[in-house]
Parts: sequence; structure tokens; C-alpha cells
Amino acid sequence: MSFWRNLVGKFVSLVGPKEQIDWEALLIESDMGINLSQKLYALLDKEGLLGKAELAERRIKNELLHILQNHKAPLPVGKPGVILLVGVNGGGKTTTAAKLAYRFKAEGKKVFFAACDTFRAAATEQLKIWAEKLDVPMVSGKEGADAASVAFRAFVQASEAQADYLIVDTAGRQANKKNLMMELGKLKRTLEKVSAQTPLFILLVVDGTSGSNILVQAKEFNEALGLSGMIMTKLDSSSKGGMVAAVKYELGIPTYFIGRGENLESLEEFNPEGFVEEFFS
Ligand code: GDP
Repeated sequence: MSFWRNLVGKFVSLVGPKEQIDWEALLIESDMGINLSQKLYALLDKEGLLGKAELAERRIKNELLHILQNHKAPLPVGKPGVILLVGVNGGGKTTTAAKLAYRFKAEGKKVFFAACDTFRAAATEQLKIWAEKLDVPMVSGKEGADAASVAFRAFVQASEAQADYLIVDTAGRQANKKNLMMELGKLKRTLEKVSAQTPLFILLVVDGTSGSNILVQAKEFNEALGLSGMIMTKLDSSSKGGMVAAVKYELGIPTYFIGRGENLESLEEFNPEGFVEEFFS
């Protein structure tokens, strides 16, 4: 049974004269977050749609489309346009860096990598494997090196090579979160200084199976760095990515791409209509 039908079935109450769906519980369960779920519930209540399943579903779809529209600034263009990928460990940053490079290269663009997770040598190694596979030049530093200085060197080299994009992979773990945010803040300021002509793009990479924790991560990273957008990975799982809507609704942060697998081709541009249709299918 489909994800949505399954949930609806779970929240149908057979108590009372007529089948009633517990919309609020259903929406929370579908990962829309408490605030958006309450807003949607209030809307259905106000418009008298709580007992009218089909109409209510259509109303929710329209409202979600409205929330997800309007959308996003274009990816940065510059020589190079800089994309900083941030997020907690395991979210899919390094894999997504490779997927983005694959995508840009297919569009005929020249790409550079900056391996700025200097906290873990294995992270640099992982990106290096992708860099070799994709034939993308990569600038890195020793374990423990200053991530901002790696980013600076990478920018200079990418700029000299007239690259279209510099993709910066960053650390997700430090001794503590404050250190991580400080390091990322420094990285951001350094890149902002050198790439003054183009806006710096900061994309949060989140694991789509992390539920409402995604909202917490988005808030934290947004407060510390100011996010341009989000990439949600692992939507090839049972998660249908309701948090995409919660993050847009609560924080105004748009989703740019979704990941649906570990291979290079499995990064899709986020499309609100397709997303909503699939969510309710
Ligand atoms: P990082 O720590 O944020 O750099 O995360 P990684 O890029 O190392 O990814 C963590 C794990 O998630 C790896 O095993 C990836 O292959 C896997 N992964 C990344 N994106 C996806 C996705 O869209 N779907 C699935 N199923 N796995 C993914």
C-alpha cells in the first residue's frame, strides 16, 4: 500500500457516526512537523473539510504547493560559483558533492572540489576517490589543517583554472558543535571575501530519514550560517520527505535537490508539483 494511503488508514477513527480522519496526527506522522501540521489542521477545520476526506486532501495539496512555490534563487554563477555543503555527519555531503559535480560536468561545466573536512582524514580520502572517478581537480589539506585555508587555496586554484563551480565539502563533526559552527563560520567569511562578486551558496545536506530532527538541524545551521537552501538525501527509503515542507514553512528555506540513491545519477532537482503528487500517491 502507498505511504499516504497507509497513513490515512492508520488515522481513520471508526468511532462516531461517520469515518473521521485524525488529520493533525496524520500530518505529524507524515513528517510535516508540528507547526505546519497544526496550520493545515486549522485550515481544514475553518473551511469545514475535516469530515470530507477527498476535499481535505486536495486542500492540503494546494496549500503545500503554495508553501513550496516561489522558490529559490538560481545557483551561483561565477568563475567559480561557490557551493558550500554543510550538515551533520552521515547526511550525505560527500556523496552529494560527487553527484553535483557529475551533474555540472554533464552540463559541460568545469568543477573543482575543496576537501574541507580536515577533521577526518577518511572524509578527504572518500572525496578523493570521487574526484578521481569524475576527473575533478581537488584541493585538500592534512588532517587537522585549517579548513578555511584549504578553501582559500581551492578558490584561488579554481579561479585560475576558470572553473564554473567550486564545491566545498565540510566537516559534520567536531569535538563539540560550537567548534564546528565556528569553523564553518570562518570558512564562510573567507569564501565570502574571496568570491566577492558572486553570492556564496550554502546548502544544508540532510538525511531524509531523520524525521523532525531535520528541522532542528536546519534551525541550527541557519542561525549559525544563513542557509541558501537544502538538499535532502535518502528519499529512496520509506521516507517521503515531509520535512521539505516543514523547513520551507517554518524557516523559508527551499529545497534544491533530492537524493534517491548512492549512485551518481540519483540526484534530482526538487520539483514541488512532482513532490506533492508523489507524497499523496
Ligand atoms: P557525509 O558524512 O555527510 O559526507 O555523508 P556521506 O556522503 O559519506 O554519506 C553517508 C552514507 O549515506 C553513505 O553510505 C552514502 O552512500 C549514503 N547516501 C548518501 N546519499 C544517499 C541517498 O540519496 N540514498 C541512499 N540510499 N544513500 C545515500
